[in-house]
Parts: sequence; C-alpha cells; structure tokens
Amino acid sequence: MTFKIGFESEQKKKEPAESIFTAPQKKAEPRKSLVQIYFEARNMTLAYYNDMFDLHCGDIVYVDGRLEGLIGRVTQVNYNFKINISDYKKVIALADTDIQGKFFIAGSSLITFQREALPASKVSLWFNAPAGSDTEFEIGYDDTSFPLNSLKDMDISPVVAERGSQYYIENKIKYISIDGTKGYAVVSGSKNYEIEFEYNNGEISRLVCSCFCSYNCKHEFAAMLQLQETLNFIEKNFEDEYKRTGYFAAINKSALFSFAVAGKDKGSVTFE
Ligand SMILES: [Zn+2]
Repeated sequence: MTFKIGFESEQKKKEPAESIFTAPQKKAEPRKSLVQIYFEARNMTLAYYNDMFDLHCGDIVYVDGRLEGLIGRVTQVNYNFKINISDYKKVIALADTDIQGKFFIAGSSLITFQREALPASKVSLWFNAPAGSDTEFEIGYDDTSFPLNSLKDMDISPVVAERGSQYYIENKIKYISIDGTKGYAVVSGSKNYEIEFEYNNGEISRLVCSCFCSYNCKHEFAAMLQLQETLNFIEKNFEDEYKRTGYFAAINKSALFSFAVAGKDKGSVTFE
C-alpha cells in the first residue's frame, strides 16, 4: 500500500539548480545575532556571533573555529547584545531544511520524483560541512563500468563488499538520487561520505567516494545495493513517474524527520 505524504514549509522559495557541491544559502536578509549552538557530537552548547544569516531556533548551522566541520543546532537567538568581536567565532553556513513536495513511502526511505523537493545541493549541507575556501578537489575517472544488476562484476574485494552489505542492512544510505544519468548518494560511516556515479542503461560508471580511497569501497557497494532496491521499488510502483521526470531522490525516513521536522516549532505536514 502506498501513502502519500506532503511536506510544506511556511517560507516557500525556489532556488535555481546548482552544482551539488555549491552549498546553497538561504536568501533571507541577514540579521545580526548572538546565538547559542548545540553540538551533538561534543554534547556541548557554545555562543557564536552571526552576521551572515537570519537565524532561528532549530536551524542547522556550521561554525568556524575549534568546532569547524561539526553540525550544530541553534538553541537560542539573541538580538540584544554588545560584544567584542574578537571574543567570538562565527556561524559560516546555514543548511536549508525547508521541504516542499510529495514523498512516497518505500521501505526505509521516502521517495520523491520532484527535482525541487529535495535536491542533492540542499541535502549536502544536512550531512556535510561546506568545503573550506582553501579546499580543492580533483576527480579522475577510468573507463570501466559494471551492470547494476550484477554487482559481482564490480571490481571490489569480497571483504569490502561484505562490509558494504552490512552498511546497507543497517540503513546507512541516508540519501540517494539520480538526475538523468547523474547519481549521488550520502552514506554514513565514521562520518558522512558523498558518492557520485553515472547510471546509464543499467550500467554504473565513474563511481567515486569522498572517503578518498583509491579502490571501490564499502560506501560505494552499500550505495549500489540501495540503488538496486530503490530502482526495483520504483519499477514496480512508480515506473510512470520516474519515466516522466527522469529523476528521483530517496531519503532515509529518520534522516528526513530529524532534519525537516524535529527541532522545528513551525511549518506543516500534510497526509493525504
Ligand atoms: Zn568510501
């Protein structure tokens, strides 16, 4: 049985398509504030100065300084303050967690066929800190490919494949999407890793992972297993939708809830 779930946020805004590694930023006018931010990874709350965004309680943010790279949640916003700027580190990025669109329940995931509902560009900041301005990425590809429905043809050691299977069983694939032939996934391990690949006529190529290993890794294998499952589900239930848009994005249920619903005190969820 299929349920339709609609998410709607109060502030509706459309953002132009961007590269998945171009972190989109909220466009609201910045409002200077002194904010308290909770870092779950450290179980600590610290004060930061903000002059780049209009921050609210529940916002997911990143900061500079000692806790750079850790995800934080705004727990308090003060507009009335006088501080010595040099005493404070700053908020440097704000994740956009407003969701709008139609999602279908698919096992451990929710699937949408609407490009604007949950693009990789938006989700990227939910799971990973923005790359520092001094970070430079280089990607190289060989010309190998393998059929998605025959992962034994993937060049991967049995031990690594076994670990990847375990990741898949434990629902560690937080997000996976295909736009045309371009695939993207987020797999959580000791941290969150981003996987990119090409998917064309059932063949996978140009498979790379941000764990920077030089061989096919467990994150990639886990993502391939999730892709098999999701595409099988789509084929059985939503073939027409997928054919029409050439796009899908599937997000782990609990991940969507924790970012889009938990910690927010405004917005709406529609079940139809
Ligand atoms: Zn990896």
